[in-house]
This record gives sequence, structure tokens and C-alpha cells, in this order.
Amino acid sequence: MSTNRTSTAFASAAAALVLAGASVHGQAPPARSLHERAIVVDAHVDTTQRLIFDPRFDLGARHDDGNLDIPRMREGGLDAVFFSIWVPGDVTGPIAVTRAFDQIDAVREAVRAHPKDLVLATTAADVRRVAREGRIAALMGLEGGHMIDDDIRQLRNFAALGVRYMTLTHFKNNNWADSSTDAPAHNGLTAFGKDVVREMNRLGMMIDVSHVADKTFDDVIGLTTAPVVASHSSSRVISNHPRNMTDDMMRALAKNGGVIMINYHAPFLSEEFRVASEKRYGDVASALAEMSAKCGGNEACATMESERRDHQAMTAGQMPSVRWEKIVEHIDHAVKVVGADHVGLGSDFDGATMPFGMEDASKLPAITDALVKKGYSDRDVHKILGGNMLRVMEAVEKAADRSAALK
Ligand SMILES: [Zn+2]
Repeated sequence: MSTNRTSTAFASAAAALVLAGASVHGQAPPARSLHERAIVVDAHVDTTQRLIFDPRFDLGARHDDGNLDIPRMREGGLDAVFFSIWVPGDVTGPIAVTRAFDQIDAVREAVRAHPKDLVLATTAADVRRVAREGRIAALMGLEGGHMIDDDIRQLRNFAALGVRYMTLTHFKNNNWADSSTDAPAHNGLTAFGKDVVREMNRLGMMIDVSHVADKTFDDVIGLTTAPVVASHSSSRVISNHPRNMTDDMMRALAKNGGVIMINYHAPFLSEEFRVASEKRYGDVASALAEMSAKCGGNEACATMESERRDHQAMTAGQMPSVRWEKIVEHIDHAVKVVGADHVGLGSDFDGATMPFGMEDASKLPAITDALVKKGYSDRDVHKILGGNMLRVMEAVEKAADRSAALK
């Protein structure tokens, strides 16, 4: 949250003070005021699925289910969110394109319906301005290259509608890039996949390497002329899932100037939970596909039901319990490997099983509090909360300008 807080934000800040255990008579505790001053960016939320599948869902109302809405973003001091535009990887062809455009429309309409709170943003400068105004910047990322239907013109259409990054794959390979959760088919990127990366650089669209196979990651790093992001990935050293990044991948990402945004999904945070979950439900991709089938293709239902089931199992002691401090462990590990300039937040809210204590966006200040307690400087906390993502956005915008100037 930035300056110019509204009265609602002020009231929620007061509520958070109580939560943080501070005296309500005194000043805001240093961590809370640091959090308020910072521009807090979440690089990946799946709340778009609720907009699509639940006609009664109002982003402006406080809900007691799911992880994110405007009141809880306000409480959590969240200044900018990337709404994921996503259809499952087995939805392909023109239908995938249409459904992606429907979701873009849903995000844009949700912004239009809440002009006091939300502004559609496409640049780092937009985000800074919107945060200064005390509103929340809504951005979009396309999660899965299958939605361009092997047509570079669709990539340009998505960029023109305000989509600021594309995750090259989702759980499945597409026709031009291998995914981390599928059997290798292309040895990374195909020739067309490489054209996609070059075109994204030219368009000033960020390349998102979350979900991609290690070889796809290597191909991207070898090719891109701008920094890349991992919009929602955690550390593979801590939880050995192929969706997470090895320390070497983090180092290559940092060398490229990019940033890894830590994902809060319980099996990506905790090795114990991952192993127990795979034993119980199979791998992450097939477990989600099964739940989606149970929900009749309603993806909002699929992720919310999965989370409910996981939380019940954790509460009943049938699965290892995962707490929010695990998020801080991943941040701290990444900072130890690549430094505070290359780490950020990519919650996966409304698309994952949140750890206890991070049930929704209102709980975000706990992360700042924990980083301060660990001895992180104000400067480093600012970078991790959002500064790094803004720096990458600016670098990608500049690289696109440079390539335009060459034409
Ligand atoms: Zn994802």
C-alpha cells in the first residue's frame, strides 16, 4: 500500500496493527509502516477464474472463501496484481483463444466496475502512479503459450489488449515449448518457439519461465535480450518439484537481470507435503485435472475444492501441516543464492493451496514483518515486495524501445 490511504485502508491498517500484536495506542509498528510505504506487487493470482465461473462473485465485496478480493487486497496492502489469463493445456485451438479473450474482457470489466479501487496498468510507470493515488493496479499475464494457437498474430493481439507477460507453457507441452510437468517433446523450444521469444522481446512483453521445462528455460535464457521473470515458482532445493527452480536456474535468471517470484502453493513450499500429496492424489497436474473433471470444468471450483480438501486433511493430521513461514524460508533461500535484487512475490492466490497463516491477501504484512525480524534492510524489503518486478518491467519496456529504434 502506498500513500494517500483511504479511510477503509486506514481502518484495515488499524485492524492489522491489532493482528500484528502492536499497541493500538502507539505508532504503526516499523514493519507495518514499511509495508504501507512499499509498492507491493503480486505477480500471479488466479482470481480471474472466479470472475468467469461464478457470476455472483463481486471483486469489490469481502468474501469468506477464496483468497483475494478488493477489501482483502486493501487490508494486505497489496498495490498491484497480475491477473492470470488461463485455460487448461488440453484446451487448444481457436477455443483456447476465445476463452482467453473472454477472461481479458472479464478482468477489464471488473476494473471498469470498481474505478475507485482498480486501474488497468500496463507499465511500471502506471503501477507507480496508481499506487501513489491509493488505488490498486490490475495487470494481466497469459498463463500458457497454447492460447496463442501457434499464431504469432494472436501474441500481438494479447499484447495490444494489455497482457504484460506470457508464461510459455502450463502443465502440458504446447506445439513449440516443453513444460516441466510433461515428457520432453521438443528438446526445449522449437524454431517457432524461438520466434515467439524474439517477438515478445520486440513487443516489450515479459517472458515468464514458470512452468517451463529446464531445457526450455535454458533456451530462453540463451536467446532473450531482456530480463525474464518466473511469475510463480519456488525453490527446488527446499521442495523437489519440477515446477520449482534449482539454485543454478536462479543464478542464470539473476545473471539475466530477472526475478523469481515465490509461489505459496503448499506442495511447492514443503517437501513433506509434496510427497504426501503425490501419494494421496497423484502429481499436481493430474490431481488438478481430476478435480476439474469433478467440478464439470469449472476451474474456480477445482482450485477452491482442492484447497478445502488439503486444509481439511492438514487439520485432521492426515497430511503434514504447512505454515506461512515456509514462504519466508523460500524467499530467504533465494536471497542467499542470488541476492535481494532478484526475488519477489507470486502467490498463486485462488489457484493453489495456501499454507496456514496465509489464507488470503490480507495476511501479506506477515511476510514483511518476518523479513524485518530476520534483519532485512528496508531497501531490500521494498525490492522483494515489488521493486524488483517494477525494475524488470522497466528493463523490458526499454529493451522493446531499443528494438523499435533499430527498425
Ligand atoms: Zn501456474
